[in-house]
Amino acid sequence: MDNPTTHGLEEELRACKQKIQNLLRENEQLEMEMQQMKDPKNSLSSNLIPNECERSMSGEVNSENRYSRLMALQKMGVVSDYTRIIQCSVVIIGIGGIGIVAAEMLSRCGIGELILIDHDSVELANMNRMFYRPEHSGMTKVEAAKQSLTIINSDVKVSGFNLDVTNLDNYDIILSLIQSDTPSRQRLVLCCVDNFSARMSINQLCLEARVPWLESGLSENAVSGHIQFIVPGVTACFACAPPLVVATGLEASLKKEGVCVASLPTTSAIIAGLLVQNALKYILRFGKCTEVLAYNSIQDFFSSYCLKPNPKCSFKLCLQRQEEVIKNSENCMSNNIFLPQQDESIQLEEVSKDNEWNIEVVEEVADEMRENETEVCELKDLTNEELNELLKIS
Ligand SMILES: [Zn+2]
Repeated sequence: MDNPTTHGLEEELRACKQKIQNLLRENEQLEMEMQQMKDPKNSLSSNLIPNECERSMSGEVNSENRYSRLMALQKMGVVSDYTRIIQCSVVIIGIGGIGIVAAEMLSRCGIGELILIDHDSVELANMNRMFYRPEHSGMTKVEAAKQSLTIINSDVKVSGFNLDVTNLDNYDIILSLIQSDTPSRQRLVLCCVDNFSARMSINQLCLEARVPWLESGLSENAVSGHIQFIVPGVTACFACAPPLVVATGLEASLKKEGVCVASLPTTSAIIAGLLVQNALKYILRFGKCTEVLAYNSIQDFFSSYCLKPNPKCSFKLCLQRQEEVIKNSENCMSNNIFLPQQDESIQLEEVSKDNEWNIEVVEEVADEMRENETEVCELKDLTNEELNELLKIS
């Protein structure tokens, strides 16, 4: 039988060891952050993309090739060049329920580089979501994510920054992480934060950096969510048409002490899937990127629409980008890149009558689709160079 005194000491010793481990991890993280703050660009270029040139993706079909099923997209003509994913850096701000699933998906797809920004730690209360495991408890989310993602696909350069995007002191360092130092490298930001002030900060950062970004969010009751694709000056920025809660300053009053919002792994994963699907379409130039896509799980209803930039937007940088885009499009492009999808609009009657599966469009849904039909826009295929041209400084 255990001596109760010895047992107590053993418990205490175990707790001390755990504390020492946590402190060592914290120390390592702080040293890394200090290095990055001293010289973020050099730190990135030296640590994160050293082997990019050595990376390749083979389409060879064998059980040892992790990319064979992804490269099959190219063989089947879905994408013209899957390997361009190696040249892409994705910055994910917020690696909670949506962000961490997005990070895992992009790692498995072989993205060139992932830059993760978050300032929270993993808690047992996060275990209702995907990815994090109980043994991650106490670790910073960026460290836990970095550790696991590197195991999933060591080809991907992953870096983590324990930074709060709403803290003004962090603005310059996050801006430098978002700005691409190499014009040929495509950069995209995924916003997976859970509050509107963080979204507003990201809006400002992406407007300043002229970097496209995908916004995402979940409802507080966990049964619906949305994504929004924002190209500075081309589509509405987050402030062009802010949600009512932001416009009226109600958000703070909605947060009550001791009340936590609901979250479901299913809804988070669905929104993360939609987010990454649109990120991949943008990076790999296939299909259409949806400007705003909303999902309601109660009705299993999806709606999509586009938002034009607001000429009276409260963000001065947005107005500046709108002017630049108009000027650049006059100079280098024959038409606006967002064209109404008039010629290819869905022929509802034909869908219901002649499809080989005899699928019928229910009248109520059909009405909603008709309403949306005039609003659906198509993101015209743009080359990287065209987009850079459009977003360049005039
Ligand atoms: Zn705006």
